[in-house]
Amino acid sequence: MIEIQKQKLAIRCQDLCKIYGDVPAACGVTLDVAEGRFLALLGPSGCGKTTVLRMIAGFETPDTGEVEIGGRKVSGPDVFAPPEKRRIGMVFQEYALFPHLTVEQNTAFGLNGTSKRPDRIHEVLALVGLEGVKDRMPHELSGGQQQRVALARALAPGPDVILLDEPFSNLDAALRDRVRQEVRQILRKAGVTAIFVTHDQEEALSLADEIAVMIDGTILQVDRPERLYRRPSSHRVATFLGDANFLPGTGHGDTVACELGRLATLEGTQGEVEIMFRPEDLVLTADDKGPGEIIERTYFGHDQMLKIRMDSQTILKSRLVGCCRGLHEGQRVRVHVDTPVMAYPSAYGCPVAPA
Ligand code: ATP
Repeated sequence: MIEIQKQKLAIRCQDLCKIYGDVPAACGVTLDVAEGRFLALLGPSGCGKTTVLRMIAGFETPDTGEVEIGGRKVSGPDVFAPPEKRRIGMVFQEYALFPHLTVEQNTAFGLNGTSKRPDRIHEVLALVGLEGVKDRMPHELSGGQQQRVALARALAPGPDVILLDEPFSNLDAALRDRVRQEVRQILRKAGVTAIFVTHDQEEALSLADEIAVMIDGTILQVDRPERLYRRPSSHRVATFLGDANFLPGTGHGDTVACELGRLATLEGTQGEVEIMFRPEDLVLTADDKGPGEIIERTYFGHDQMLKIRMDSQTILKSRLVGCCRGLHEGQRVRVHVDTPVMAYPSAYGCPVAPA
């Protein structure tokens, strides 16, 4: 956050709301994106991501709130600039290419007469690596190439901001990862600020500089991927993003007491709390006299998830990478948490472990 304040803001949304009938699609959305950053707007289906993107683009009028792009107010109580006056480029889920135009003509489409310079089209096609196929029609391209034409068309007029709505969801799994990285590199080279909407956590975590988590029309947290994963601000964010273990505990400043003993905390805490740690933080040791039993094992190839039932009946999850000889269903285990944990004010009236 401090870092953002020092940098120039490319996009600023202040308290945006949009209600359709009785559906509050977006409520009090406040979001800053610094110049040159790549932000993922991440949330489950129907949480309002596209509505926010459309309000930034000018395809939707907010009920309340303001949008600034490049320091210029483009939406507010007394102003509404249409999309073509916002210096933005849009990339849609289905690319929306013109089927009867070549790659080159599609790319040139967003440029007006005076700016339709061949050198600009050539420059953008080179940036997205499509010079060699500039005379092809869209149906003669792969999904990844079509995606790059859509990006070239959006970048051609030299916008300040690119908005991408679920840009990778039309690609099959084998292609998706490569295209994601290509798009990321192209945007970085172009030095443009971008927001992309996604419901895919892995996509957001692996691509974005920052992620805004949106649930039920509200942004719950904006942070760097690592921080969001390690320090989710609430139980809700922790469960939405990845797997999590929760236990009741009692905070004592830098430590918390719980049924697994005294654990270090990431942030100082006091009183009744709910602690959270990730399954990969739970280390298991086979021990026939241990207080837990492995009751389930799910194998994913690159890792596996083990479910442990403690004698207290608490269920914990442990993610193991690589070989885990001796850790099979029915094996009793000792458990310990090997990283500092998050602690949230106790919301569920969990029984509190003794200090
Ligand atoms: P998805 O990931 O499925 O595209 P989303 O997070 O982008 O979802 P939105 O498309 O912004 O969500 O929709 C948010 C809510 O607003 C949904 O309940 C949706 O049905 C509703 N909604 C969106 N657009 C309209 C509209 N034009 N009229 C009425 N309701 C709408």
